[in-house]
Amino acid sequence: MREKIIESLKLKLNRRVWESWFGTFDVKEIDTDCVIFQVGNLFIRDWLEKKYGSLISKTLREVFGKQMNFRIDYAPAQSQEESEQDEPLVKKRPLILTPLNPILTFENFVVGPNNMFAYSTSLEVAKNPGKYNPLFLHGGVGLGKTHLVQAIGHYLFKNNPDLRVIYLTSERFLNELVDSIKKNKVQEFRERFRSKIDVLLLDDVQFLIGKSGIQTELFHTFNELYNSGKQIVVCSDRDPQQLERFQDRLVSRFQMGVVAKIEKPDEETCFKIATKMVQIEGAQLKEDVLKLVASHFSDNLRRLRGALIKLIMYQQISNESVDLQKASELLSVSSLVTQKVSVDEKLIDALCKVFNITQKEILGKSRKRIVMNAKQVGMFIAKNHFGLSLRQIAELFGRSHPTVSHTIQKVEELVNSGNVVVKNQIDQVIKHLTDKVSNQFV
Ligand code: ADP
Ligand code: MG
Repeated sequence: MREKIIESLKLKLNRRVWESWFGTFDVKEIDTDCVIFQVGNLFIRDWLEKKYGSLISKTLREVFGKQMNFRIDYAPAQSQEESEQDEPLVKKRPLILTPLNPILTFENFVVGPNNMFAYSTSLEVAKNPGKYNPLFLHGGVGLGKTHLVQAIGHYLFKNNPDLRVIYLTSERFLNELVDSIKKNKVQEFRERFRSKIDVLLLDDVQFLIGKSGIQTELFHTFNELYNSGKQIVVCSDRDPQQLERFQDRLVSRFQMGVVAKIEKPDEETCFKIATKMVQIEGAQLKEDVLKLVASHFSDNLRRLRGALIKLIMYQQISNESVDLQKASELLSVSSLVTQKVSVDEKLIDALCKVFNITQKEILGKSRKRIVMNAKQVGMFIAKNHFGLSLRQIAELFGRSHPTVSHTIQKVEELVNSGNVVVKNQIDQVIKHLTDKVSNQFV
């Protein structure tokens, strides 16, 4: 029976969730109408009850063919029993003191030019906690700060299980302090944050703007941890200097280590992120649909994810795959923009391949002969094969209107005069494009 229960549960969850949350989960006892589970970590127990309670109930109903109650006991590991009664933080066990979202790992984080620095420093911090201290991550809403800071948590959880890692939002930090004041337990609060943790991951510090009391508390917590070489990671929606109404001494502490900014992703990175998100959901969306979403929601990846989930849900419910038309309808965005973007991107892509140059070169101001050549061919194709306007072409290649007009004319003359080299180049690019573009234009 035990195997049956565990197997059925496992089937309902994806592997990552299983590994993250059910690692120490097991059946302890089966009574006539109740199953008692056990798990090795108090926080995980609470989390499982909250998040997976109904799934567990449902599974038991299926396995037993009737309604079963269940309970999850918290069974500390051996070493834990030997330690002090009131000391929940025990060495030799993974100690994430706040549940982390199992999806927010380094593996699931797409690296692009916008977040490369933040990503690399976060990874370094995770590999060598205490070395780059503090790490201050900042960037606009929905650009991946929480993802990175939680990824550090996961990494430590996995590779450095002895460390006591705490992740919490600044709001929670404040609430806990307030609570401790109410209960007359400030000393305990201080001890907990100043001497019982090895890594402090503090999210959304901008929440403390203007709240001087808690800033003072954080200042002392910070010093204490910092002085004993404990790693601190702080996230904020703005850089330290823009934290107005923040104590200067705290702002200067934030700048003592590494300050890393996450920028908005470019379209290519955004497309990769969208692809990754869909893959994590175990779903599939058409490439042009992904591009549509990426082009409209690149300034906030939380909204991007929301849009993708909406489309995935629609697909699941309607049992038909969402096309560009349907996606733009569901998300109330225009698909025309993306069609143009798709053409642009495919053309640029084809030119890079055929001329063996980089996107940066072709979209930049390079004066290299081969790059100029690729641009000329590109402009000609954009006009004659895609019917883009001169204005659109000028925008795409970063050239003035008259230059574009002149260039296209020049290429036309070369073709008409039977120049095989140019003709060949054009043919190759078109050949490259035809398979890819045909779905969209025929
Ligand atoms: P922030 O904390 O900066 O407001 P989050 O970390 O909550 O933003 O990110 C918003 C969403 O976007 C989350 O679902 C997160 O997993 C996802 N996300 C952000 N950046 C990336 C990335 N580079 N790769 C994959 N997913 C990302
Ligand atoms: Mg966040």
